[in-house]
Amino acid sequence: MFDIYNDFKEKENVLKLVSLIDEEVGGYNRKVKIMEVCGGHTHSIMKYGLNRMLSRSVDFIHGPGCPVCVMPVSRIDIAIYLSRLENVILTTYGDMMRVPGSKSSLIKERGNGADIRMVYSPLDIIKLAQENKNKKIIFYAIGFETTAPMTAALIEQIKVHGIENIFFYINHVLVPPPIEAILDLCDSEIDGFVGPGHVSVITGVEIYNNIVVKYKKPVVVSGFEPFDILMSVLMIAKQINRRFSRIEIGYTRAVKQNGNKKAQELVNKYFEIRDSFEWRGLGYIPKSALKLKEKFKDIDAESLFRDYIYDNLANNKVVENQVCKCGDILKGKLKPNECPLFKKSCTPDNPIGACMVSHEGACAAYFKYFDDF
Ligand code: SF4
Repeated sequence: MFDIYNDFKEKENVLKLVSLIDEEVGGYNRKVKIMEVCGGHTHSIMKYGLNRMLSRSVDFIHGPGCPVCVMPVSRIDIAIYLSRLENVILTTYGDMMRVPGSKSSLIKERGNGADIRMVYSPLDIIKLAQENKNKKIIFYAIGFETTAPMTAALIEQIKVHGIENIFFYINHVLVPPPIEAILDLCDSEIDGFVGPGHVSVITGVEIYNNIVVKYKKPVVVSGFEPFDILMSVLMIAKQINRRFSRIEIGYTRAVKQNGNKKAQELVNKYFEIRDSFEWRGLGYIPKSALKLKEKFKDIDAESLFRDYIYDNLANNKVVENQVCKCGDILKGKLKPNECPLFKKSCTPDNPIGACMVSHEGACAAYFKYFDDF
């Protein structure tokens, strides 16, 4: 029907898809609830007004796909403790700097004298380490399956070049476990999932098997153009109507069934799956994140500074902000505009929660693009 390599740029194809979706869902007496897992999709949906275009047939539920947003306060507190160590330069990506921990944030710590640097790529850290040979450089690594290969590539480089002053605070998380945790919530009414494009480029699509087999929910992996997202929604709606659930790829321009084998091998060389990891709003989820393998504990900041971290966590209670609704938004229970602080005391200039800080966060997307209609 459409040529996905060329037709995604044409406005009339977008409008055609909207009417096909409305037609497909027309037989229901309710809107279908579709969760877009990835923060990049949330921004496209809001930016191009896809939620408005499909207001009769689809309720977009925003998922836990923003890596900054899902970091719990305890993990931010640990980064802050690490930044306070003597002779340490803590490095991380820009958005992480402003996310509030219990009592502080990395940007406040920098203002108080901690040496905290923003990096654009993990490979920037090699230069920093070479220029500061008398310092320990700790990389506060965050992100989903998409960015884990970049961290693994950095480890590969430091091993090859014998660099001894780079250490890792690993916070790489995995997409399927939080989706399953959301589906396990008894009040979850999600009909299907728009699967993340960038993650699937790396992992391939079999990681979603459990969602379609055990939970019987369609998963369609999508690109980021309006056409891509609408095409994926149409594919999901067709599955729902025909009462089957399977994994489909709506982003064949980039995603292959088996993903990127080289990237997977690099990740498997250095990382293994944690028994459990805490997520903002979702609590501890089994097997939902990566850690360095035991044989690399010489570069694992969590292992090297274990006692120091535990002492700080024991002496300083981890305090969640009780008014911020990020946790409920990440579970798909609330929309950002339903938070009483949205656009009032919480704005991108004065963010109260992680979902407003991150450029992939749902609250930031609503702040930029949402208007009542
Ligand atoms: S608007 Fe601000 S306070 Fe409310 S949920 Fe979003 S980040 Fe938290």
